Formats: sequence, structure tokens, C-alpha cells
Amino acid sequence: MRKFCSKCKQWKDMEEFYQRRRSIRGKSLCKACENETVKKYREANKEKINEKGKRWREKNKDKVKEWNKRYYEENKEKILEYQKRYCEEHAEEIAEYQKKYREENKEALKEKRSKYEEENKERLREYRRNYYREYNRRKREERKKNVL
Ligand SMILES: [Zn+2]
Repeated sequence: MRKFCSKCKQWKDMEEFYQRRRSIRGKSLCKACENETVKKYREANKEKINEKGKRWREKNKDKVKEWNKRYYEENKEKILEYQKRYCEEHAEEIAEYQKKYREENKEALKEKRSKYEEENKERLREYRRNYYREYNRRKREERKKNVL
């Protein structure tokens, strides 16, 4: 049995058509034409589709989060295994990348650190003071013990 594709205007075997009834306004398109149509539609509406997907994900944040979580739970070992293997196989690349990153961002990182220290001056001072106090206290106790 053959069917007529209203796009390429050709008679084609039934197997050249998708079995599911997906005729657009009564038109039957062969697989090639349908794929082409879908592809063209996607290309022409890429932004609209992306936007729609983004909006959908934003509206269904919880659902997406739940899916991701479930996916992670169900594939945890596979994912961890993959990450481990990836790190092992790319150890040099990763080290190289990190080194390069540090070198390229030396100034920015330094600035970030000094900004952090500036912003946490009091806390850091407090921390150091406590640290030394504790250190001295322990020293004293040790000395005491040695005397006894
Ligand atoms: Zn066709």
C-alpha cells in the first residue's frame, strides 16, 4: 500500500510514513518531510522554544529539582564513578587549568583575599587571639606537668 505525501508530492510506501496519526490539517507527510518540517520549525522558533522551556522550568522549579534529585539518587554511583574517572583521566588537564586560572587571576584573587581580610579584620584578629591564647595555655600546662 502506498500513500501520498502532500509535501514532496510523491507516492511512498506506508513505512515511509510515521504510523501514529500526526497529519497536519489532514495532510500526510512522509517521515523525511515531517522531520524536515519539525527541524525547520525548531530552527525558526529556537528562541521562542528556549524561552518557553525556561519559563516552564522556572514555573516548575520544584518539579525539576525533584527530578534532578531523583536522577542523582538513582544514578549516584554511576555519576560519582564518572566524575572520579573524569578527574583521573584529566588530572593533568585539570591541574593545568587550575594553575592557569590562578595565574591569570592572580591580581583578582589577591584582591579578593585582602578584601576578605579587610572585611573580616575583627573576626580574624579575634580568631588569632584565641588561637594564641589557647596555644599559650596548653604550653603552660605542659610545663607545669613537666615540673611535677
Ligand atoms: Zn514527503
